[in-house]
Amino acid sequence: MTGLVVAMDGPSGSGKSSASRGVARALGLRYLDTGAMYRAITWWMLQQRVDLGDAEAIAARAADPVLLIGTDPDAPAVAVDGVDVAEPIRGSEVTGAVSAVSAVPQVRARLVAEQRAIIGAGDIVVEGRDIGTVVAPDARVKLYLTASAEARAQRRTAELAGTTVEAQQAAMARRDTLDSTRKAAPLAKAPDAVELDTTALNLDEVIAEILRLVKERT
Ligand code: C5P
Repeated sequence: MTGLVVAMDGPSGSGKSSASRGVARALGLRYLDTGAMYRAITWWMLQQRVDLGDAEAIAARAADPVLLIGTDPDAPAVAVDGVDVAEPIRGSEVTGAVSAVSAVPQVRARLVAEQRAIIGAGDIVVEGRDIGTVVAPDARVKLYLTASAEARAQRRTAELAGTTVEAQQAAMARRDTLDSTRKAAPLAKAPDAVELDTTALNLDEVIAEILRLVKERT
């Protein structure tokens, strides 16, 4: 199975992260969370007080933060300028701001180059929004995970303290719209990706279905 790349795309709450980590563990592959990279750059922009309403200001600083991202599915580390940001990048401030930063072409160009360098010779599960379409169009296995808006909001609410399903659903709808209508590499299903609706499936069932597909393709 050498050189295997599994591309996992889909909107937030579709079950991508847990499924990607589970598949990587089961197959002894590395794991790359590209969303964490966009979140880390966003965290840094917020720290630097860059005006996130100004795409040119974001573009001008896009190359400055030094990003380190791990590929261990059991301990996905992420650091910016030497600071461990694994926790703060999951906070509501970063989540609310990340789509503005990820829409800037200079940010994407930088991160896509870094993602391709990490993917290298493969043996990796990569999750994001544009993996099957832009980052790794030659990936041997491409998944596009979806779930109903209610299921996605319920999953996120269960993960986060102090929020409601309604608030999560509204926040996710806003982020999906921004991510799928931006000009640069919008969230999209690759024509050759297999769509998997996870609404009625538990995590083990999702992982089993992906492993079945990997076996079929390898
Ligand atoms: O997957 P996650 O929700 O952590 O991604 C955070 C944000 O990063 C997304 O809402 C999107 O704006 C951006 N992103 C992206 N391309 C990717 C991965 C994430 O634009 N490949």
